[in-house]
Amino acid sequence: MQRCSSCVLPEVYPNITFDATGKCNYCQSYSKIEYLGSEKLKTVLASLKKKNGKYDCLVPVSGGKDSTFVLYQMTKVYGLKVLAYNYNNCLTHPQAQENIKTITNALGVDLVTKRNEKQKKYMLTNLKAYLRKPAVAMVPMFCTGCRYGIIGNAFNEAKKHHIPMIVIGWSPIEDTPFKEAYLKESGYSVKSGLISNLLKNPAYLKPGNLIAAAKDYFHSYQQVKDWNFILKMLHPGVKLVQFYDYVPYNPDEIQQVVEKEVGWKTPDAKNSWQWDCKIKLLQNYFYKKEVNFTATDGFLSAMIREGFISRAEALKRLEYSEQKTIGELHQVHEFLKDIGQSDLIPHFSPEKIH
Ligand SMILES: [Zn+2]
Repeated sequence: MQRCSSCVLPEVYPNITFDATGKCNYCQSYSKIEYLGSEKLKTVLASLKKKNGKYDCLVPVSGGKDSTFVLYQMTKVYGLKVLAYNYNNCLTHPQAQENIKTITNALGVDLVTKRNEKQKKYMLTNLKAYLRKPAVAMVPMFCTGCRYGIIGNAFNEAKKHHIPMIVIGWSPIEDTPFKEAYLKESGYSVKSGLISNLLKNPAYLKPGNLIAAAKDYFHSYQQVKDWNFILKMLHPGVKLVQFYDYVPYNPDEIQQVVEKEVGWKTPDAKNSWQWDCKIKLLQNYFYKKEVNFTATDGFLSAMIREGFISRAEALKRLEYSEQKTIGELHQVHEFLKDIGQSDLIPHFSPEKIH
């Protein structure tokens, strides 16, 4: 399979083209991320902070390294009084839950957790609908409930505790535009593509599932970034600060800091991206099976473009992650058993992926 000569995006990536030197259009049009800087962040935090509030900000934490780093920075480096908030969709890796306990203890930060048992129900509705009629554009539906669970609920918690701002650790490097590209293939926009796919497969059309999907849509990365009038209306009085708009996001450096400073752990030090939720195991399986790449190809390509790793290093990591997707199928099987869905196991077999 041909890959871009500069990043590692494969020829099967949506809307990709290569020039005579084999460089892809994504690399050609790329401009490096410009960060606003930590001085600017200090000014913003100071302007939003309330006098004499119990908490200065709320930080959503997943147990992954990126949000852990934000929590560490806000408390230890920027000296704010922080409330940590965790959305527990009941499908997360036990190590992620363990990390949340460890880091909040190490930093002496209060923690509120919101559990949502319903997310498992949505995941199964969407997984079973997908299996009836696989359409790669609908793989993100397995996460239904999570976007609102993380960001929508963070706003609700902030309001409840009279906290003026949320500081979140999303990075543009982690953006996954290919998911939107597949939806756009079936419509004019992400929204019309989603509706068109839903109508083609009535198994998705359960009222709770659709309401959750709509709430997620309005809290997606792009919508939150644009902060449109619906979000303004839904969440007045609380401001959102995107930490990695200000401070450079270098995943490897972040990992070293959180391991050393707050005792953060990962089940696999060689691949510490997106392991915290088990739904990712299912999604990676279907991406690999249907289109022969996963979000990891895009993430590593972004790391190359930002100058964090070489192309050779990215190829090494990619191979490791691909072997892992196949090697860890038993984890998918165990996961399905755990949630009482052993009958779905035959859908996940190594022969079915590239
Ligand atoms: Zn490229």
